[in-house]
Amino acid sequence: MSVLDLTHISRNFGTASRPVRALRDVSLRIEKGERLGIVGESGSGKTTLARIVLGLTRTSAGTVRLLDRDVTAHSAADRRFIHGAVQMVFQDPMSSLNPRKRIKDIIALPLRAQGVGTAATRASRVRDLLDSVGLPQRFLNARPGQLSGGQRQRVGIARALAIEPQLLLLDEPTASLDVSVQARVLELLVGLQQRLGIAQVMISHNLGVIRHAADRVAVMYLGQIVETGTTAQLYASPAHPYTQALFSAIPRVGDKKRTLGEDHTLARGEVASALNIPDGCPFHPRCPRASHICRSAEPKQVEVSPGQFARCHLVEPMAGSV
Ligand code: SF4
Repeated sequence: MSVLDLTHISRNFGTASRPVRALRDVSLRIEKGERLGIVGESGSGKTTLARIVLGLTRTSAGTVRLLDRDVTAHSAADRRFIHGAVQMVFQDPMSSLNPRKRIKDIIALPLRAQGVGTAATRASRVRDLLDSVGLPQRFLNARPGQLSGGQRQRVGIARALAIEPQLLLLDEPTASLDVSVQARVLELLVGLQQRLGIAQVMISHNLGVIRHAADRVAVMYLGQIVETGTTAQLYASPAHPYTQALFSAIPRVGDKKRTLGEDHTLARGEVASALNIPDGCPFHPRCPRASHICRSAEPKQVEVSPGQFARCHLVEPMAGSV
């Protein structure tokens, strides 16, 4: 049984005459204990995808299955089921924690909201959760403003773990932290995955973080997954020109900072609008390798190597995959 199974998901906003196609035919499956990284620039559809997983937005087409239950209809019962199985860790721990509340009340909030346990069992659970994220018990009565950024993020993780979710959705969880604190929060997440087997989806534009935080990566561009595979496959041999451009922009030690558009291996220009998606391959206006066919025909997804898929006319399907 998969934790999450999205099949041919689309999501449109706007009006019939001006549709915003935020997600187009996205399929993803996440197994128990798996860590999936989702990368892409602004406007790629990452946030819409996260909102669907959290039960905050319904789909326009496709099916959503969570723990083998079809929750596509987005009924009140479906949303309650989702909220009991999926929890979110936010980018900015300061703005996601109520500054007037004590840490013990913040962590206990999901337990109270779901009516779990008595006051005594909730207090005991909060103490265990503080231990599990490596925070001292003396923080129980502190308020968020008395903690550092890394400590606040650990509180956010403890709160997300309170109701024992099957899936943690992490939205840029280390973006507001300095590098040494980032590393400790990432270690904590790895430890939680290994000890508790909770599946994790991490949304980030930081490919250095994703490399350490994900077993598998999905690269999104204009509402589609353009490439997916294991982290090792994508970092060693990215197949799609967009993935290649993203990964070649990762600064290496001693490099001057490079951004998309600076040299011929990197993508040019800005991402197009979901209001006006280019014909053919949606990446063609920025692709350094675009040819005639790219402007007229949308590429299909092909399997490049076992478990690695890309949408590009140039990639060769692996033998026997079509
Ligand atoms: Fe570039 Fe063409 Fe491949 Fe699209 S299909 S990524 S435009 S080479």
